[in-house]
Amino acid sequence: MTTVAHRRDPRTEWIIRNRLHPQHEALFASQNGPVRGPTGLIRKNPHNVGFIGPNGLKRIDRLEGNSSNVISINRQVRQVIEPEKPLHKVEQPDFHILVVPDLAGGRLTEQDKDVLGQAHTLANVEGSKGAVVAVIFGEHRETGLDQAGVDRLIHLEGSDYEDYCPELKLAALATIEQQLSPKHWLFPDSIHGGADLGSRLAATLGERPAVQAWQVNNQQATCRAASDSIDINRETPKILLLAEECADAVDETRHEVLPVTVDELIGTQTTLTDHGFMAVDPNSIPLAEAEFILAAGNGVSNWDLFHEAAEQLGATEGASRVAVDNGHMPRFRQVGATGTWVTASVYLAVGISGAIQHMQGIGQCQTVIAINTDANCDMVKRANLSVIGDSEEVLKELLLLIKEYREALSHAA
Ligand SMILES: Cc1cc2nc3c(=O)[nH]c(=O)nc-3n(C[C@H](O)[C@H](O)[C@H](O)COP(=O)(O)OP(=O)(O)OC[C@H]3O[C@@H](n4cnc5c(N)ncnc54)[C@H](O)[C@@H]3O)c2cc1C
Repeated sequence: MTTVAHRRDPRTEWIIRNRLHPQHEALFASQNGPVRGPTGLIRKNPHNVGFIGPNGLKRIDRLEGNSSNVISINRQVRQVIEPEKPLHKVEQPDFHILVVPDLAGGRLTEQDKDVLGQAHTLANVEGSKGAVVAVIFGEHRETGLDQAGVDRLIHLEGSDYEDYCPELKLAALATIEQQLSPKHWLFPDSIHGGADLGSRLAATLGERPAVQAWQVNNQQATCRAASDSIDINRETPKILLLAEECADAVDETRHEVLPVTVDELIGTQTTLTDHGFMAVDPNSIPLAEAEFILAAGNGVSNWDLFHEAAEQLGATEGASRVAVDNGHMPRFRQVGATGTWVTASVYLAVGISGAIQHMQGIGQCQTVIAINTDANCDMVKRANLSVIGDSEEVLKELLLLIKEYREALSHAA
């Protein structure tokens, strides 16, 4: 056995620790390897964090290299290449877990992803292996099905599925039930279609579904009831309507997304007619229910421009408390701990710093976009995408882009 003794020079160590000593810089620079404290333990030097920027000032990257979500106004985008995740394969599944995601807006919602995560917990049974099969109706824009945990995909294409057509979808699910005899059917318990379709399938198959299920394993399902005041435990049934955050989304594996074809559909006669969506004023939608919010903070100075941007984007207006206190927005538009807690799919924060009380109100938002002059503010750290620049400049450019986009659409039509 060999031991290596550290020969210590207490005076040099003291100078290295003492930033005010005239020889500190020279000795600190000549120092290779770790600094040891008076007890011999290795010490971390907090002053080593960061680097000297081009203007000679010290800069600390608080995003810790995770800056791919920041766009500066001159449109330079830095990209981070993520390592590839291991591929999860199910060669010969012993059983199938069917998931019918909402795909609201053509993309998997956070709840859809949690439901897929739940499906994998039910597919991993000791001694046998199940495959998670997603059923998707009509066109979609989702590109991350492999990352979200889809082993097999039944994609029922065609414009027939674009409108509200529960009878047609139910016919497809009944056909799949006959073809695959899945162990479980999983739906998001949501207003986007999951609760409706799941209940219809349960009635058709004569099953009693678990609704608002939030803790599920292969033996037992725990469901919220009586306005969330009690939990009901029951044996895990065949059909589950799952609450938000029922499980963790898949994030450590990739999946094959192998296509599965469906036999000819049984009973496709429909009696319902969809008359389409009704146009509503986005500002008449209660903040708590709004899907797309454009929120203003203290960094907004041109309020006419802000209102015009909200109108052109078709967004519901929100505000920080400072914007409300300063009299620019009514009190009922305040987002945050003492305002409204919002659950929008897209929350676009213009000139909002991201104080903790504001952040509490947007915790459930799916995608947060920040427009701010300060690349280090908390809103930019929370945002999925940030535009660093003056709010007036960015909103003006946004309006120009909307105009160009609409003109291109009308020329194409
Ligand atoms: C008990 C309590 C409850 C509270 N409840 C709430 C609440 O419910 N909701 C809430 O929002 N706050 C709440 N607050 C207030 C909160 O602490 C913050 O003060 C507030 O959220 C800050 O609002 P702001 O981000 O708009 O303003 P500021 O903190 O002033 O931030 C302005 C932001 O705009 C940026 N900016 C400046 N100029 C520009 C420009 N030209 N272009 C682009 N960006 C620019 C700045 O970089 C900054 O990030 C509460 C506080 C307390 C004490």
